[in-house]
Amino acid sequence: MTAAPATARPDVEPGLEEFKMFIGGEFVSARSGKTFDTENPYLGRAWARVPDGSSDDVDLAVDAARSALQGPWGEATGFERSRLLRRLGDLVAANAERLARLEVADSGKLYREMIGQLNYLPQWYYYYAGLADKLEGRTIPSDKPNFFVYTRREPVGVVAAITPWNSPLLLLTFKLAVGLAAGCTFVIKPSEHSPAATLAFAELVDEAGFPPGVVNVVCGASREVGEHLARHRGVDKVAFTGSTTTGRAVAKAAAENLNKVTLELGGKSPQIVFPDADLSAAANGLIAGVFAATGQTCMAGSRLIVHEDVHDGLIQLVAERARAIKLGDPNDADTEMGPVANRPQYEKVLGYLKTAVAEGATVAAGGGPSTEQGGLFVQPTVFTDVTPDMTVVREEVFGPVLAAYKFRTEEEALALANDTPFGLAGAVWTSNVHLAHRVAAKLRAGTVWINAYRVLAPNVPFGGFGDSGLGRENGLEAINEYTENKSVWVELTGATRDPFKLG
Ligand code: NAD
Repeated sequence: MTAAPATARPDVEPGLEEFKMFIGGEFVSARSGKTFDTENPYLGRAWARVPDGSSDDVDLAVDAARSALQGPWGEATGFERSRLLRRLGDLVAANAERLARLEVADSGKLYREMIGQLNYLPQWYYYYAGLADKLEGRTIPSDKPNFFVYTRREPVGVVAAITPWNSPLLLLTFKLAVGLAAGCTFVIKPSEHSPAATLAFAELVDEAGFPPGVVNVVCGASREVGEHLARHRGVDKVAFTGSTTTGRAVAKAAAENLNKVTLELGGKSPQIVFPDADLSAAANGLIAGVFAATGQTCMAGSRLIVHEDVHDGLIQLVAERARAIKLGDPNDADTEMGPVANRPQYEKVLGYLKTAVAEGATVAAGGGPSTEQGGLFVQPTVFTDVTPDMTVVREEVFGPVLAAYKFRTEEEALALANDTPFGLAGAVWTSNVHLAHRVAAKLRAGTVWINAYRVLAPNVPFGGFGDSGLGRENGLEAINEYTENKSVWVELTGATRDPFKLG
């Protein structure tokens, strides 16, 4: 990977890093020649200049992805795909620090969080490298005497991968590693708020030796770029991570083309704390669930449903810790919470804080912006006395905001936890093993943690119930989202058959 180019181009302001799109194996500007600047939310100023792509660039990228599928990539064996995936994993490992710094600059997320993610990412490429050469079909014993029947697993084709601004490379990798293992080609569209790391990542794809067009990256300031890609007739599958509202639009576009689609969307995940739980462990899990990454994670554990006997004690623990969270420079090793990633999101979070108070919630910690640091900081906030109908309970804030309410019985806890259109994740805190599994089974969520929060792995499926999405990423099952099953019937006698009879 080339060093950060403090470019010498006269049209680029000094200090602005410049990135290109990656189409058909070439690093290119937008066809229009336009660019846009992305803002570092901590510094509050532009730090990178990227191509302002449009529908024309998307069309080129889709054509390149189609050609690659019909060219050498389509012929590559699983062993070859596996080799390239391992190589890409090695390159991500070798460049983890630079990629993490780019993500920090683009989104304001903590370096300690992003370097952790980047150091872990190679495991996805290694895991699916291990699967690429094992995509076996089946032979099926025929119910008719003279037929041999077998199945083939074939790549679904050209995949549009559309990603959000939080953790761009992790969420891309959930799609790319498995899709490349399956033999698909990709057109990637990172968020307009944080495209830099994905554009830089393309350099590693190139260096790994993937044939031109297998992976393409386009970006643009306008949301129309993603929209055009999602409904493109040259695309065979859409893999999307983002908000539920956009997810619905993407699903409609995919349906128009009768395309496969996976959607990883928002959440409003509950953390249920029973009275026999280790309260300091639960408090720690609550902090991890909603204040890590400034609450800007889809799986944020943003609803605390706590037994009335331990409510006050737990709130005191969480509120004290929330007030002590160190806000500051996301690049500093001792910073615990960075800014909100962009101005629209910052305004949105502050709006939710006001609404919560207006609707009657009590502030136990935080409750407003944090102005000391400059930049887009919000105080880690804990609301108590919330009710199930309040906006802060019903809608995803995507910020450092916890809403706490009480229960008395196991049934009541479950009813409150499941009273949401979302179903991405949830946690149960208890020392009673029977209760833990009983509640885990009844929570309507794609992931449940018992006495833990915010743990993921390449080999464990991840995705949501209800408004939190469609399909699963990660794990062995994810390969089904990127492959088609073909049945092949071979007639063994050479005889002709009654043409007017089935079978
Ligand atoms: P978003 O929905 O605004 O944008 C996501 C991506 O879609 C961006 O690249 C955007 O440019 C593109 N886009 C916008 N309009 C489009 C359209 N009509 N058609 C196709 N693409 C379009 O989401 P965001 O604000 O970037 O991300 C935050 C959201 O993502 C949160 O709701 C969060 O919960 C969710 N999220 C979910 C997961 C998960 O795995 N479930 C993970 C991370 C984030």
